Amino acid sequence: MAATEVFEPACRRAAAPNLPATEALIAAAKSLHARGLTPSYGPGDHGNLSCRTPDGCLITGRETPKDALRSEDLAHVVGREQLADRARLVYDGCRRPSTDALMHLEIYARRPDIGAIIHGHDGRALANAERLGLPITRTSARTNSLELIEETAALCARHDYVILRDHGFLALGATLDAADQLLQRWYQRASQGGF
Ligand SMILES: [Zn+2]
Repeated sequence: MAATEVFEPACRRAAAPNLPATEALIAAAKSLHARGLTPSYGPGDHGNLSCRTPDGCLITGRETPKDALRSEDLAHVVGREQLADRARLVYDGCRRPSTDALMHLEIYARRPDIGAIIHGHDGRALANAERLGLPITRTSARTNSLELIEETAALCARHDYVILRDHGFLALGATLDAADQLLQRWYQRASQGGF
């Protein structure tokens, strides 16, 4: 998403995360890219993926094309502090977490049943969202904002697949595989022009 700063990233340890989910996250990101679902959308936005961890979430770093992702491109968000006017996200990693990391944390907080979130750019789902009856944010996602995060998290509290207006999709699942299967189903429905 756009590079508006809605949180302040604070590095705790500048080392590539080495977690059980690291390889699965990289594999899922490369697979998404291979299917054309992470095209660049504005400067540096190639979609993002995350997995819940006991400490927070493991998420792709900023401005990381998904075809050549390495563990050095991931960030492990391990803490959140509230400052006077914004949140500070503490992370381990060589790259700052995705600009959507705060959105992912808000969704995880409201959905204890899910363990993975995938955000990508699917032009067909976007174009057919209303016809397919998909939940769509009222707020345009051309720029990131706390309002968009709040609205998106509220929609994700009730839906596993949500369209970010003018932008892309969020797919939620118990696992990365489950989230990926869900986004594939909507991709196919949107491509087929109906149910
Ligand atoms: Zn995006």
